[in-house]
Amino acid sequence: MKKYSFWALLLLLLVLVAPGIGHADSAATHINLNGNELAITKDTQVQVVNGSVMVPLRLVAEQLGYSVKWDNVTKMVTIEQAGTTLKLVLNRATAESSGKQVQLDNPPILSGSITLVPLRFVGEETGTTVGWDNPTKTVYLTSPPKAPLKSEPAETNSAPVGSETSSGVNSQGAAVTNLSFSDNRLSIAVNGSVSPSVFAMTGKDRIVIDLPNTFYSQSFVQNLSLGNKQNGTLEVIGNPDVSTVRYSLFSNSPSAIRVVIDLNRAKTYSVINANDGLIIVDLNGTGTTPTTTIAPAAPAATVPPAVVSGKKRIVIDAGHGGKDPGGISVNKRKEKDFALATALKIEELLKNDPDIEVVLTRSDDSYPTLQDRVRIANNLNADLFLSIHANSIPAGSKSNPSGTETYYTRNESLQFAEIVHKYLVPATGLSDRGVRQSSLHVTRETKMPAILLECGYLSNANDEALLYSEDFQQRVAEAIVAGIKEYLG
Ligand code: ZN
Repeated sequence: MKKYSFWALLLLLLVLVAPGIGHADSAATHINLNGNELAITKDTQVQVVNGSVMVPLRLVAEQLGYSVKWDNVTKMVTIEQAGTTLKLVLNRATAESSGKQVQLDNPPILSGSITLVPLRFVGEETGTTVGWDNPTKTVYLTSPPKAPLKSEPAETNSAPVGSETSSGVNSQGAAVTNLSFSDNRLSIAVNGSVSPSVFAMTGKDRIVIDLPNTFYSQSFVQNLSLGNKQNGTLEVIGNPDVSTVRYSLFSNSPSAIRVVIDLNRAKTYSVINANDGLIIVDLNGTGTTPTTTIAPAAPAATVPPAVVSGKKRIVIDAGHGGKDPGGISVNKRKEKDFALATALKIEELLKNDPDIEVVLTRSDDSYPTLQDRVRIANNLNADLFLSIHANSIPAGSKSNPSGTETYYTRNESLQFAEIVHKYLVPATGLSDRGVRQSSLHVTRETKMPAILLECGYLSNANDEALLYSEDFQQRVAEAIVAGIKEYLG
């Protein structure tokens, strides 16, 4: 093997500590499939190459039920599963998917004797939901739902006990079998795996629960009334915070049910979904430390926006949350807390705005996955997406940067980035580290102008003191609002 030159090492170091890629450490990586950690060896570690996450192909493909063949002469890997064949060649950025050419972010590379391929490619070509959690260096994989079995006609009564047949809407996905609201908790009973998108909306305060790939079961139709528009209402009596719970068939193709909790005032909530047949949206939390468990997301249903209110819809994403603290500051404070406090201040500033509707991806210490955050914005057809973070560099680094950065990925987001950055820098009073392009999940996968702010450096003592002061957070929130308003004209 060739020796690395000093310059190659320096370049590698720069890549590892590049700001915005953030929270890098050299700890071991992890691969989690459907909630289980896969055993990975020194050779099968996940790597980040040119900003894209590269995973060991054989390990992942076999775990997903594919057969893997390697041809040492042509350097070609063929992976196969009923009806799907993928062919990849080492160091070549085009691959073949069932006869069609597909472009990869990065060509497959060899690490030792292990072929690494871009995670995104695995996700797109196998239907697996993929995610990368940089702070914990974990790849999350969720297998696509199994193709539904053709169900027997209901009158044969041959369905096994406990199974639910559809009310004729659509037999794909999971059945919603019951809905109830008590003790400040909404319980949704489902038969199958459902990955809800839950988000708060202001204006008329409400919490929206979208259930992709779901349909009403027969028992649901029998127990709860269903209007001819496939909708209905659950009256909530004697609750000062909640007026009604509504449900509707939000989308027909693919079938998706939406449940809305109409609130008398804004409430924080937590979502518990352990994939055990019960999804709970709990309004009892104080907003400080509710427990939130969101099971790994299944592939998202594309659902059209529900309301055309005429208002511009802005998704504000407080970075990290829950089990993911984000960066840890010099005084051991967590990035997720700065992000949430600032997001809530933005919501407060815009909540009575006649032209802008704010949707938060989280309003408490919960952890929506990166995919959840993107899905919320895309499903809503949001007009803008803005993610709030603070940067840090690894402990022991020689340099100690300070300052404010704004990131974007797609060119259509550049103008939004420049305008917000123009307000943000004077508001933080920190040095201007510029508007930067980087391939970050939430700014890349969203479909509207989307930016990510690294307001200051947690690893810098001066920046850190500011980041956790109310005044600073308020100034940042006001700057962001000013930027949004200028951008929207
Ligand atoms: Zn962050």
